[in-house]
Amino acid sequence: MRRIKADEAEYVTVVNGMNHPKYTEVCDADRRALENGFKWCLHCKRAYPTGNFRYDKNEPDPIPQMFCPYDNCDGDYWMDGWVWLEIANDNGYPSIPKLGKIYALYPEVKE
Ligand SMILES: [Zn+2]
Repeated sequence: MRRIKADEAEYVTVVNGMNHPKYTEVCDADRRALENGFKWCLHCKRAYPTGNFRYDKNEPDPIPQMFCPYDNCDGDYWMDGWVWLEIANDNGYPSIPKLGKIYALYPEVKE
């Protein structure tokens, strides 16, 4: 598949996009149910509502790479977006995360 150069990229931010065609081309019903709620980004360690993502509108691939919705984060929506409830349960975080707040994966370990 052809990828365009980074300086040609022009990102579109999608909010509440679980029924967005770019989303449903990738995500089956089982995964949508599992991800109902929030996701957590392995790159920026922030949580976001499931279905919020960015993609490059100049990407010619009909199934473009989908990114973490936070600006300036290159985390992949699928690979780096983990199920928030699993992170929350493992670390005693609230089931509803604060948007934009950094939640360490292992807060007891000093990185
Ligand atoms: Zn991110």
